[in-house]
Amino acid sequence: MIVCPRSCASEPGDEGMSYLLATVARVHLRYSFRIYPTRPQRQALARVFGCVRVVYNDAVAARKAAHRSQLAYPSTAELDKRLITAAKRTPERAWLAEVSTVPLQQALRDCHQAYRNFFDSLTGKRAGGRIGPPRFKRRSNTQTARYTRRGFTLKANGRLYIAKVGELKIAWSRELPAEPSSVTVIKTPTGKYYASFVVAVDDGTEMAEPIADPEAETGIDLGLKSFAVLRGGKTIESPKFFRQAERKLKKAQRALSRKQQGSARREKARLKVARLHEQTRAKRDDWLNKQVKAIIGENQAVYVEDLCVKGLARCRASKSVHDAALGMFLARLESKAARTGRTFAWIDRYFPSTQLCSACGALTGPKGLEGLSVREWACGCGAVHDRDANAEINIRREGKRLVAAGHADT
Ligand SMILES: [Zn+2]
Repeated sequence: MIVCPRSCASEPGDEGMSYLLATVARVHLRYSFRIYPTRPQRQALARVFGCVRVVYNDAVAARKAAHRSQLAYPSTAELDKRLITAAKRTPERAWLAEVSTVPLQQALRDCHQAYRNFFDSLTGKRAGGRIGPPRFKRRSNTQTARYTRRGFTLKANGRLYIAKVGELKIAWSRELPAEPSSVTVIKTPTGKYYASFVVAVDDGTEMAEPIADPEAETGIDLGLKSFAVLRGGKTIESPKFFRQAERKLKKAQRALSRKQQGSARREKARLKVARLHEQTRAKRDDWLNKQVKAIIGENQAVYVEDLCVKGLARCRASKSVHDAALGMFLARLESKAARTGRTFAWIDRYFPSTQLCSACGALTGPKGLEGLSVREWACGCGAVHDRDANAEINIRREGKRLVAAGHADT
């Protein structure tokens, strides 16, 4: 394992296994690996997950109770005393003493963060749409337990030691770039276990193949028809499995909703939905990483239109696999560009990339809703354009202009 002298003070919230972004010169990344606990370790982990869930739910209940009686919300320190230290001395919660306190304290911090996200989304301080208040955690969902440095160690024998659980066998599919600041042990609804490490990485430190041509750069036009269009009209098609997965998920979800509560058939149907979600996520992540890697590998600079993908998702009832993937694609592209020292710039979403003629600069291209179906158009100047290829040229030019004017991070 790589040991890094740097330590990291700030922790990102619990965002599952996705990449995390920071606008400063340091990014927090998640690295997930499959782990294979033995039977006694699985039992120990089940206890931890159960205790974490109970402490989290007790914290949600305490805040709800405070709200009902119009009292100030109890602080995390207060909840720590009440829901962990004092609770251990009661017969109902005595079993909390059987597990490490580290994940229990993290559960309180996670609950606090969940409330902060909720309030920030109400006041508009948080980007994206409104989110609901924290809910009680259920046994059937993904189970997690987060450990800070006090609760885990990476052993010289390649195993992951977790306090009061033991040394876990872990499948190191790649190397950690630095010493992790925390690890979340995860059990998925289908019974798989993962360790997800948070690692802080400085911008521009990741090695990427140098590109001979410093002019190798591309705009990215996010398509409605295809996934994205790059320089020279190079197209990334939206993969077939996006639609297939959506159809399958809808069907499985419908089947699940028809099954009776608490029945064995319902449990089976629930597992099927969970498995489909897992497969879709894995395939999508794999596909996205390949696209991002290829683009960064071939370009010195990348310019993207800020489509406000979050806004796009908000106006649709359920976010499609495609829309969700677009947001992730952009986030990962930006993050990877930062880590590899490539130039990355967002173009204002009101920039008329489609309407501008890239030959003469007149606004003669397709406009508005009726213009959505126009694939090819001719400008008065005589130029004939492919809609997306023309938009890419405009995005690239605007990106270059912004960077030259110092309006974008490089
Ligand atoms: Zn023209």
